[in-house]
Amino acid sequence: MPVEVVKGDITKLSVDAVVNAANSSLLGGGGVDGAIHCAAGPELLAECRTLGGCKTGEAKITMGYNMPCKYIIHTVGPVWGGGSNGEENLLRSCYKNSLELAFTHDCESVAFPLISAGVYGYPKQDAFDIAKEECNKFLESHDMKLYIVVFDDRGLNL
Ligand code: ADP
Repeated sequence: MPVEVVKGDITKLSVDAVVNAANSSLLGGGGVDGAIHCAAGPELLAECRTLGGCKTGEAKITMGYNMPCKYIIHTVGPVWGGGSNGEENLLRSCYKNSLELAFTHDCESVAFPLISAGVYGYPKQDAFDIAKEECNKFLESHDMKLYIVVFDDRGLNL
């Protein structure tokens, strides 16, 4: 089955892993990152402090704590700088590396927010198209249930 697009709040989903659009410190921020830390509780920040940050395009995994998911996969999307700084490849790497981590942790279901499409300024439709493409590419060779969770669908052709 191809990736399923759902509307709503990613912190409420009962999946094996929820992906967080984190910043490189992994110490929390606004947007979906703030919502996830708020829902997971302070133990999440304590585990994140032990991880030593995360580079753009890479991903790290923690437990889900008070969230309904088992794991949280923290990935750092690129800040949009006009498109000529490798943003597209970095954004694709976020999806690839997050999916690889989910696979090695035996996750059967994973939900993604639109990485980089908020404060990091990536054009929303392009960010959505890349999310869909990378999820569907992964599903050609893996059996997993993947969701893209759209919080605010204004300006998006879903
Ligand atoms: P980034 O810094 O990577 O741009 P943001 O958190 O600012 O990350 O935004 C990424 C996307 O997550 C945006 O499209 C935003 O609307 C969305 N978002 C914010 N809160 C939630 C939530 N609770 N569930 C799902 N998506 C969310």
